[in-house]
Amino acid sequence: MTRVIFLGPPGAGKGTQAKTLADHWQVPHISTGDILRSAIKEQTPLGVKAKSFVDSGQLVPSELVQDMVEERLQKADTHSGWILDGFPRTVEQAAFLDNLLKKTNLGGAMVINLDVPDGVVIGRLLERGRRDDTEEVIRRRLEIYRSETTPLIDYYGDRKQLVVINGNQSPDSVTSNLKDLVVSC
Ligand code: ADP
Repeated sequence: MTRVIFLGPPGAGKGTQAKTLADHWQVPHISTGDILRSAIKEQTPLGVKAKSFVDSGQLVPSELVQDMVEERLQKADTHSGWILDGFPRTVEQAAFLDNLLKKTNLGGAMVINLDVPDGVVIGRLLERGRRDDTEEVIRRRLEIYRSETTPLIDYYGDRKQLVVINGNQSPDSVTSNLKDLVVSC
């Protein structure tokens, strides 16, 4: 059972690593950002509600994201595990996920903090150029990351679920660090 949660600032490389490792371990890569962007594109009821938050770099209300994750984690392809990318992003969401996982009796997940300095992530995001990657929106996402998401480092640290990986290396080096780490657990 491979259950991995990626933490780290926007632009840390969570999506890239999560995708590569999901292929390698044959588990689904569940990115809340990707699910929200496709809901927005398809103008589903969720997408219509989420659009202004995503476009301005704010967090989508937790209720919406939690329902979405709960539904996704019930699908059959999650039986051998999953990689979560972009969730949880607040202590409230982490507590919700803990409860959800408790119900399944399969134990907790391993949490990886991909650590990258702010100066580096801003440069990477400006290069990426997604529609929510303008300088102003990036600054807001980083502020929200600092205030809402970094408390999760202590939350999972206290529960002995956290591992820190240096994300300021080539993508291949990060991948091989991650593979070594998860094999040894
Ligand atoms: P990044 O990590 O580059 O910020 P994501 O693709 O993970 O990008 O998220 C993009 C946007 O989707 C966020 O800025 C936010 O508006 C929304 N979002 C994604 N995950 C969550 C979440 N767990 N809770 C609230 N909003 C979320």
